[in-house]
Amino acid sequence: MIVVHIDQIVFHVYEFSHFLYINNHQTLNAKQIQDDLLKEILTLNANTEYLYRFLHGSSDKELFKKHVPVVSYDDVKPYIERIANGGEPSDVLSGKPITGFLLSSGTSGGKQKIFPINNKFFEDMTFIFALRSQIIFRHIKDVQEGKAITFLFVKPQPTTLSGFPVSNALTKNKQAMYCHLLCGLVQRDEVVSLAAAFASSLVGAITFLENYWKEMCSNIRSGHVSEWISDLSCRDSVSIILGGPNSELAELIEKECNKKSWKGIITRLWPSTKFIQTTVTGQSAQYIPILEFYSNKLPLISPSYVSSETMFGVNVNPLCKPEDVSYTFIPTMSYFEFLLADEGNNDEIVDLVNVKLGSYYEPLITNYSGLHRYRMGDILQVTGFHNSAPQFRFVRRKSVVLSVNVEITTEEDILKALNHAKLVLKSSGLILMGFTCYADISTYPGHYVFYWELKATNINDTVQLDNKVLVDCCCVMEESFYPLYRALRGKNGPVGALEIRVVAQGTFDSLMEFFISQGASVSQYKPPICINSSEAVAVLEKNVIARFFSDKSPLLGSELRY
Ligand code: AMP
Repeated sequence: MIVVHIDQIVFHVYEFSHFLYINNHQTLNAKQIQDDLLKEILTLNANTEYLYRFLHGSSDKELFKKHVPVVSYDDVKPYIERIANGGEPSDVLSGKPITGFLLSSGTSGGKQKIFPINNKFFEDMTFIFALRSQIIFRHIKDVQEGKAITFLFVKPQPTTLSGFPVSNALTKNKQAMYCHLLCGLVQRDEVVSLAAAFASSLVGAITFLENYWKEMCSNIRSGHVSEWISDLSCRDSVSIILGGPNSELAELIEKECNKKSWKGIITRLWPSTKFIQTTVTGQSAQYIPILEFYSNKLPLISPSYVSSETMFGVNVNPLCKPEDVSYTFIPTMSYFEFLLADEGNNDEIVDLVNVKLGSYYEPLITNYSGLHRYRMGDILQVTGFHNSAPQFRFVRRKSVVLSVNVEITTEEDILKALNHAKLVLKSSGLILMGFTCYADISTYPGHYVFYWELKATNINDTVQLDNKVLVDCCCVMEESFYPLYRALRGKNGPVGALEIRVVAQGTFDSLMEFFISQGASVSQYKPPICINSSEAVAVLEKNVIARFFSDKSPLLGSELRY
């Protein structure tokens, strides 16, 4: 059995470009395809230990809906672990042979999970990758032949006897990142796009470049790769790409990187870049301003909604604004059901084609590798239909909330508040490079604590922390929270003043390294919006350089939300 992260499945995306475009047949016949797919899964899995308990060998859709329970990870974990660790056969869960396991990033839902996979998963992944490339080629001309600098961070994953990854080769990742960027600089004229699964990786790559461009220029000038790149085959390949000394190119890159501001650095270093392909929806939306800054507002394309559990869908309108992105569900991937998540939720579950425009749902998935009616923990909103296949906006992770009393502040509320604060920061020449937060209830009244890593817009300037600006940021965030928060936050109320703790530069890299040391994948890594691990808080705490508190109670609004 192999255990991998989703990003370790590498496809030669562009090789698939000649076939497959969004298949009208699939979106026109979504209902029939979904019914047939469920029938096939139930027939395949009818005699698995898991399903037999509920259906006694039947593959009837109505019985499935009536008897198979809606489950979360902890419900299926014992079954998964029996196969993964106990060496029991696949048919504990799945009629198709399980060929490996995928490790979820563990940073979106808080804890790491492993999921069984089989060949169907790989086929679906291939399809989605080919499909999303095709969609982009339809919208952006002349990029099919160019090169994409893609940050995938494939790494060797050592495993324990039972097959689990035990550590991460951060040094190797650093070497790979260095070589990758160096080759990207040498081939700068051929590069048409930059890509990474999630935006934080892309921002991380540019930060890496900030730290290493001088050394890279010296490698280009001399035609020799730095000695600390110890992987011999990597050295050889990069040396071939370097192709000998090139002082003209070194000077050109130096000139661009030496400029006071790194505004537009992506297009300055790679002048033929036409788009950036990376997820900037959900929690990754926080990176939109910084990516727009680095890229001179190139199109930011969020291509797909994908997880370790299943592939969901693609963005068929890739040039839309990041905030308007919706994903069209592909009915051949898994059997999708939707649990209504509107306020006053009544546990109503509907099929893919029966979701209602504007409503909020949590997807439940039934897949080919043994998950049945599995709760994804994501909240989506229906924004439209492509033929009969619905399109969804990613709203938030369900579990990500801050609360110190009866108020509930969601991931979406937090991101909105940060957008307000970023405007205040912008006017004082600062950029927010990373953040996370937690509800501190160790003292009364409890309060929200935000950890912020800041950077000056002008790359050579040091960060000046102006008390008034940072206190203002605390206040605008509180003002933007919903009325119940503001009511509770009133004088002597049960919610205390919001606090910003500014951390030293590089702290969020250390946080990422901490999560990676716990098994998270580099390219799937999504900095947690809220943090609940005391070890992770400790990483942040030891880097705190200043603290600021909101200095006034926010204004009250009219309506209250519980
Ligand atoms: P993982 O399985 O670790 O890769 O994480 C999957 C999770 O990442 C999903 O359940 C979502 O919460 C999040 N995710 C994946 N794709 C997107 C997307 N396009 N927009 C927002 N969040 C996403």
